Amino acid sequence: MQCSKCSGKAVIQLQHGSLCKIHFLNYFEEKVFKTIKKYKLIDRNDRICVAASGGKDSLTVLYLTKKYLEQYDLKTNLFALLIDEGIANYRKTTIKDLKTFCKEHKIKLVIASAKEEFGYTLDRAYPIINKETKKKPCNICGVWRRYLINKYARKNKATKLVTGHNLDDEAQAIIMNTFKANTSLSAHLGPVSGIEDHDLFVQRVKPLYFCAEKETRLYCLLKGFQVDFTECPYAQEGLRAKVRDMLNDFENQYKGTKQSIINSFLEVLPLIKEHQIKINSSPLNICKICQEPANQEICNTCKLKEVLKNGKKKRV
Ligand code: SF4
Ligand SMILES: [Zn+2]
Ligand SMILES: [Zn+2]
Repeated sequence: MQCSKCSGKAVIQLQHGSLCKIHFLNYFEEKVFKTIKKYKLIDRNDRICVAASGGKDSLTVLYLTKKYLEQYDLKTNLFALLIDEGIANYRKTTIKDLKTFCKEHKIKLVIASAKEEFGYTLDRAYPIINKETKKKPCNICGVWRRYLINKYARKNKATKLVTGHNLDDEAQAIIMNTFKANTSLSAHLGPVSGIEDHDLFVQRVKPLYFCAEKETRLYCLLKGFQVDFTECPYAQEGLRAKVRDMLNDFENQYKGTKQSIINSFLEVLPLIKEHQIKINSSPLNICKICQEPANQEICNTCKLKEVLKNGKKKRV
């Protein structure tokens, strides 16, 4: 396989041709920088928090956000934020990788721990909550992560929150929301998340929005980032894994399926957002217990805390 640009040895075959190592790295970086510019993901005076786990997507987005800031000489502060949910045989390795990476690239790292914040690791909380509510680990993890990321980004005075969501993640989310008829969640998708600004919410942005998972994986490998590709032990549970496999099957048979899902979604996203603002029956509140943002009187995290408290009482 030859590179379509220089006839060198190709490392990847894309929809519109094959690329060698150098041309792939340039193509990938240009695509990320174009996304940042086109969707105005980073402003001159932003203080940037990159939500990082130490996995391939977060190391890539952390590296490229730093490179973007340096390239445009933006006098911007940058730091990484890791949430330690407490997942045995998984999180410790990614924390180690992220610490090494941040040290090497001189990036400040903030770590927030679920155990310290809620008194439970995810491994311990999951069986208790699941018994009471049937919730899957990823549901609990998602609620905790969103809560802690926003809280600690804000605490550290971030004005933008960069996440490593890639094209595959977004295509999966669009299909999952469609399967569940959850239009209000879809309204929060897109390169810039959310539908309305709020003082307590740090704006989330996704520079890897148009990068396929296989491209991010290859970028990491070619750049020689130290990253463990082991999956979270809970990743196979829940709807997302099934949707992921289904989309991969489609992509293998019909190239460009995931990109088409994103393209058609982006066309209708402004209408979905507009509609959601009009019918928004549950405007943002402040949680009565913890004072963090909530859709109802009590936020989802405090509701989970209550379930844990009740579950513990029953076990004593
Ligand atoms: S796979 Fe699920 S449990 Fe594991 S880190 Fe992701 S959301 Fe959390
Ligand atoms: Zn080439
Ligand atoms: Zn709360």
